Amino acid sequence: MKKILVIIWGVLHLRRMSVLIVGSIALDTVKTPLAEHADLLGGSASYAAVGASFFSPVKLVGVVGEDFPEAHIEYFGTRAIDLEGLQRVAGKTFRWSGEYLLDLNTRETRSIELNVFEHFNPVLPASYQSSAYLLLANIGPDLQNHVLDQMERPRFVIADTMDLWINIALGELLRLLGRIDMLILNDGEARLLTKETNLIKAAGKIQAMGPKYVVIKKGEHGALLFGPAGEFFSCGAYPLEEIHDPTGAGDSFAGALAGYLSAKNEPVVSFEDLCQGVVYGSVLASYNVEAFSLERLRTLSDDDVKSRWAKFREMTQF
Ligand code: AMP
Repeated sequence: MKKILVIIWGVLHLRRMSVLIVGSIALDTVKTPLAEHADLLGGSASYAAVGASFFSPVKLVGVVGEDFPEAHIEYFGTRAIDLEGLQRVAGKTFRWSGEYLLDLNTRETRSIELNVFEHFNPVLPASYQSSAYLLLANIGPDLQNHVLDQMERPRFVIADTMDLWINIALGELLRLLGRIDMLILNDGEARLLTKETNLIKAAGKIQAMGPKYVVIKKGEHGALLFGPAGEFFSCGAYPLEEIHDPTGAGDSFAGALAGYLSAKNEPVVSFEDLCQGVVYGSVLASYNVEAFSLERLRTLSDDDVKSRWAKFREMTQF
């Protein structure tokens, strides 16, 4: 009997789809009006992978240098994050430093040291190439395109981007937009990309560039989801009295959304699933900003996720 249960568990476990996440892994220095911390675990892929891991197993592709603490790698391991695609190379890890102004919404990048990221060539292990769900977390669109070149037939591809790439790599970004299912970006980036102040019109213009679905994040005001047949969903942000570090909110949002879709593993991704994914993304992002780096996600439980999801539901029903 025990043997049969073990086999059933094994089959169910194997059937759980992994989500493939590619992006930056960093050591961050973050300054807010109240505190400053150096050498924190950061990077778009770190936040996204941990966010996704609350819903689905993850396969992670990124690069770190010799100075990357072993403890962080062990932490990824405890979160069902497969590290076959993690490159550990000679040199120093990518470093980013940012400072938030009083409103905690405006951020200035103080410094960037590309280090091992400068020659990063994301190579997908053979077992990653058939992944159905892919999140291209924020990295250069040339690298995002290079990852897509190696994929067999992904079912749903989400990409995140930032103002830097809109400003310096627009051609590659436009090429990427023709190849993905969903683009996630913030309101300022949507306006920059489309030269359109109205966000509804901006989303339509982005859809005309390729992706069927667009998510526009509005920081403390939530996120908007647009579908191809005029579908629209608006999700507020969780009302938090104290925000300690907004870094990685967008990445943990995208990771949770991608992880949720992967866990559902439906033959076709429906708008309803995307709405749920956006709510789970907002739940993870709201927890993430409660502490620096990934500290809050380290102690987060599945019950915490469920209870805040229920609060979101309560908050939006009338
Ligand atoms: P977010 O707060 O969602 O914009 O993401 C912040 C994370 O993005 C930080 O942990 C940084 O290490 C990482 N990051 C900052 N600039 C870049 C960049 N140019 N490419 C990739 N990742 C970056």
